[in-house]
Amino acid sequence: MDPVIIIGAGLSGLVLANVLKHNNIPYKLYERDASQESRSQGWSISLHMCLPYLERYLGAEKYATLAERSSVNLQNPTELEMCMANGRTDEVFLSTKNNDTIPGRPVRINRKRFRDWLLEGIDIAWDKELETIEDNQDGVIVKFKDGTVAKGSLLVGADGVRSRVARQRLGETVFWEHTKRSPVRCLGGSRRMTEKEREPYNEKFSRTMALLFGGDDDRAYLAFMCVADIDMTRPDPYLVQWNVSCITDSEPDADTDAARLALVKEWGARSMGGLTAEFIAGIPEGTPVLDLKLYERIPTVFEGTLVQHPRLTVMGDAAHCMTPYRGEGGNHAIIDAVNLGKALMDVYKKNTPLAEALMEYEEEMIQRGTKAVTESRQASLGFHGQSFDAGINIGKKIAAQFMERMQAARQQMEQEKAKEQEEERKTA
Ligand SMILES: Cc1cc2nc3c(=O)[nH]c(=O)nc-3n(C[C@H](O)[C@H](O)[C@H](O)COP(=O)(O)OP(=O)(O)OC[C@H]3O[C@@H](n4cnc5c(N)ncnc54)[C@H](O)[C@@H]3O)c2cc1C
Repeated sequence: MDPVIIIGAGLSGLVLANVLKHNNIPYKLYERDASQESRSQGWSISLHMCLPYLERYLGAEKYATLAERSSVNLQNPTELEMCMANGRTDEVFLSTKNNDTIPGRPVRINRKRFRDWLLEGIDIAWDKELETIEDNQDGVIVKFKDGTVAKGSLLVGADGVRSRVARQRLGETVFWEHTKRSPVRCLGGSRRMTEKEREPYNEKFSRTMALLFGGDDDRAYLAFMCVADIDMTRPDPYLVQWNVSCITDSEPDADTDAARLALVKEWGARSMGGLTAEFIAGIPEGTPVLDLKLYERIPTVFEGTLVQHPRLTVMGDAAHCMTPYRGEGGNHAIIDAVNLGKALMDVYKKNTPLAEALMEYEEEMIQRGTKAVTESRQASLGFHGQSFDAGINIGKKIAAQFMERMQAARQQMEQEKAKEQEEERKTA
């Protein structure tokens, strides 16, 4: 049988490659980046609900090294402090500092380190940008920008928001009609900080990540800051990523880094106080500032389209990109990859028909993805309301819901553990 072709070595593509490799299922992984070192990989992210999936399907030995190899803080790999606070007054209304509020040992990972960890032992072809796809009932032939071709039994699009594979599956028009730009305008970058500069933020807010709610007379603003790396060999050990966002169409276009930084500083001065205002004002001149264009795609658009393209499927952002305001996109991408890997294990090892396995994988993915995109959208709109009070009230509500969710997750984990122990006792 021809191999499974995976396009994209981001979170989902690499996890699927690992699951297939672990189960001796033939695959080929293609990535358009020129090499492992060719870009920084962007935002650090929190891994939480995907961890039980990784633990079960990457193998216990590999999983055991995840935190120590990928964490943003290699000195204390499982440290993850989350904070939500009033960005005008520094009043903290959610803090997971110094306790085990978040069950299941979540990890804040540095994307580059996590990718390096997932890449170990994986065969990958770099500098391969997918351009064209020919698919039919029996298989798929893909052509890359460099003119080379590859043949596979299945094509998996793990190629992110603008997925070439998803566009083939849906057609360009339908794809773009269902890929919506979020109204949230989000500008972000990173800065290095010394121990002394970082100390007040570590003490007051969090050593890992903080969501700070601000606002002016017209609208709510949100500032986010997270530690992406701590390198104690440097005089400025902390690499801190940040973004500031609001919903506005009245701001001027900012088409240079300097103009975007000036806009961020204006937003900060207008909407924040205390430590948050100081942080934003202190971003060094010359810092590159990205205009983070946030897209959403509800995956129900894929329903009913597998029949026409039975050898193409999608996962992660290619299937269901979402705004980052619940911190879930990457977790869902990883869960998709593990679930698709399990479906393919059934095909290769139990002779389950491919169509049946893909249908089952997609049904679950579409349902879970739709909920995640919708809830992330609600959070993004709520956080960026039309006044400071509106934004902070939603923030407090979401903080309370977060605590309830964590409590429920803890109870569920305790019940599952008790059940496992009971089963072990019975079989002993
Ligand atoms: C600011 C921000 C903060 C976030 N924070 C969190 C968080 O805390 N928690 C969380 O769970 N999620 C978070 N996310 C979301 C998360 O980053 C994404 O959901 C996740 O990266 C999706 O993984 P993926 O594998 O689907 O795609 P990606 O990680 O985007 O990987 C796609 C890969 O495909 C490659 N590719 C694209 N096109 C081609 C082509 N034509 N040919 C070959 N290769 C191609 C790309 O180079 C890339 O390597 C955040 C996102 C943003 C923007």
